[in-house]
Amino acid sequence: MRIEADLKLGFKDVLIRPKRSTLGSRAQVRLERTFKFRHTGRTWTGIPVIAANMDTVGTFEMAAALSERGLFTAVHKHYPVESWSAFATVPPNGAGHRLTNVAVSTGILDSDLAKLERILERCPELLFICMDVANGYSEYFAEQIGKVRARHPDKIIMAGNVVTGEMVEQLLLSGADIVKVGIGPGSVCTTRVKTGVGYPQLSAIIECADAAHGLSGQIVSDGGCTCAGDVAKAFGAGADFVMLGGMLAGHDEGGGEILERDGQRFVEFYGMSSRAAMEKYSGGVAEYRASEGKTVTVPYRGPVAETIKDILGGLRSACTYVGASQLKELTKRTTFVRVAEQQNPIFEA
Ligand code: 5GP
Repeated sequence: MRIEADLKLGFKDVLIRPKRSTLGSRAQVRLERTFKFRHTGRTWTGIPVIAANMDTVGTFEMAAALSERGLFTAVHKHYPVESWSAFATVPPNGAGHRLTNVAVSTGILDSDLAKLERILERCPELLFICMDVANGYSEYFAEQIGKVRARHPDKIIMAGNVVTGEMVEQLLLSGADIVKVGIGPGSVCTTRVKTGVGYPQLSAIIECADAAHGLSGQIVSDGGCTCAGDVAKAFGAGADFVMLGGMLAGHDEGGGEILERDGQRFVEFYGMSSRAAMEKYSGGVAEYRASEGKTVTVPYRGPVAETIKDILGGLRSACTYVGASQLKELTKRTTFVRVAEQQNPIFEA
């Protein structure tokens, strides 16, 4: 046994220090980024905020709403193959990029990969594949990434999740262009409680971004953002993309049933490894495993457009405070200050 004594930080442990700036207004801040990907050489331009591949977040309706605004959606893996064709044939709205701003998600079982092939046959214009497992540390995972890379040299592969630099390097070398980072920080994740495993998300981003950028790869910070300020901190720490589950839950586009209690409206939101998800898709929790996710109710929030405006407004404002005229500059202009636990004494119980 060994103890690592270096300090590791989460979003709540820091704030971004303001800096003198010549920027006039937050309206001048550009949030679009252009990335070139290590294996395909392809480029993509957009606002690098991603709706998570979860049942009531990564839906086709969410993808339509987000792509209109230049954002990205990792569509969950439970849609039948045929529904992809239906999604692909609807013409995009406004600035929309229906198939360029979505990833098709897949697990790594042979049956998952067979389904992926059928979807890609129907929608050859799809650019992004999201290979998603709870624990990205297995050799088998890296091998499966290698297989998909060999079969699809022109697709951009996002793969995870891991939280340490050496595994980011391994996945990039195996064929991933983008590595998803985060174990344990999710709003409906119970991995830390059930297994004791995890890594503070801000430090994971800092360390993994460094490893990825050294190999011309990118990272997605996945999980743990509870407010626009956390999204700004994730980008400030070096994330190229930020993935959101809970912050985008509770909206019309998620398609969850709206429940009413004491005159308030709610929507259920559950982890993809929760008992609820396993009962829906796998006929229950298998004997050998524990659920590592939970179900919560979140307030119903109507259409996602307002929430997006809030998040992007917060991000633009964060850039203004440190004098970053584009999101791309935020990391190099960020100095974090460590804080003792943040509490608001006025509203404390
Ligand atoms: P959030 O933005 O809600 O904090 O985190 C979203 C992320 O939580 C997802 O993208 C995914 O990586 C992770 N996640 C989703 N469902 C589960 C689950 O059931 N268990 C665990 N451990 N993580 C989950």
